[in-house]
Amino acid sequence: MQAEIRSENKKPEVKKKFDVIIIGAGPAGYTAAIYTSRAKRDTLIISGILPGGQLMLTTEVENFPGFAKGIMGPELMTTMRQQAERMGTTIIDDEVVNVDFKHKPFKILTYSEEYEADAVIIATGATPRKIGAKGEQEFSARGVSYCATCDGPFFKNQEIVVAGGGDSAMEEAIFLTKFANKVHVIHRKDKLRASKVMQDRAFENKKIQFHWNTIIEEIKGNQKVSQITVKDVTTSKVETLEVGGLFVAIGHEPNTKLFQGQIDFDAQGYIALKNHTQTNVEGVFAAGDVHDHRYRQAITAAAFGCMAAIDVDKYLAEHK
Ligand code: NAP
Repeated sequence: MQAEIRSENKKPEVKKKFDVIIIGAGPAGYTAAIYTSRAKRDTLIISGILPGGQLMLTTEVENFPGFAKGIMGPELMTTMRQQAERMGTTIIDDEVVNVDFKHKPFKILTYSEEYEADAVIIATGATPRKIGAKGEQEFSARGVSYCATCDGPFFKNQEIVVAGGGDSAMEEAIFLTKFANKVHVIHRKDKLRASKVMQDRAFENKKIQFHWNTIIEEIKGNQKVSQITVKDVTTSKVETLEVGGLFVAIGHEPNTKLFQGQIDFDAQGYIALKNHTQTNVEGVFAAGDVHDHRYRQAITAAAFGCMAAIDVDKYLAEHK
């Protein structure tokens, strides 16, 4: 089916009704679109404010299979987008402002249009929490990272900082000792939130030094991070650590606000799923970091996108 209706002397108009609308254009959204479009399901992606998702903010990706020499995050996402378009996906760089999953066909409202779909895949991802220190944004992807699995190997033989006191922070700190000479864990309280087993593992690791009751004040450097200023909140003593990087591991916020009151969330605010990719609303599916707080990798998000697309295809075959 033609994705665009062209009329004389007018800009191409995007039609309003689709078999499936995918909200979000990260690895989950693009992969889902590649699969649904290839299965001849008329597919629209509404990409949101950051087309490409979190990978647009990273540099080199070394662990996405198929790229022996690695690939830059933005290039990987551009390639996925082109692949979806080649399969016939219509992509609109607009933001969804409201959804109606209570009636069929489902309605999705953006800033400029209202669209309808027989099935929806939510692939809006999650956003890592920011520490809020001076220099954090400036040095993002230049020493400040939100994913140790993604960026850890770039910090071989360096001294680095991990911020946070939960399971993620402990897991990342332990993982990073494979590469770094020394890992400073900066935690705002005098005890960890992490599970006992993770705490014990971190305490046993000789390369990890804990800084209790401490906050990050400023991230400094030239091209890249070279210093981090931290402050002990009980004594107000300020210390400068000569380090090459900061891993912020203080949790993620799933991008679910839009769906409040429409679908069910789990206790942590992520989308609750049954039968692999289905939400509690028949015909609405979810894929990627918006429901998965365990793996949070581009490759797992892509895999969830594939699963949701296969489930959507089956759903449409049974219900259309
Ligand atoms: P989390 O459990 O919410 O912990 C977040 C940590 O960051 C807390 O220590 C918190 O400090 C700190 N924090 C939050 N906001 C901060 C801020 N603005 N400035 C400084 N510090 C801040 O998040 P998570 O560690 O990502 O874990 C999320 C969930 O996944 C948890 O249920 C966890 O058990 C699970 N998980 C499990 C594993 C595993 O089992 N291997 C691994 C990773 C994650 P406070 O303690 O002071 O609040």
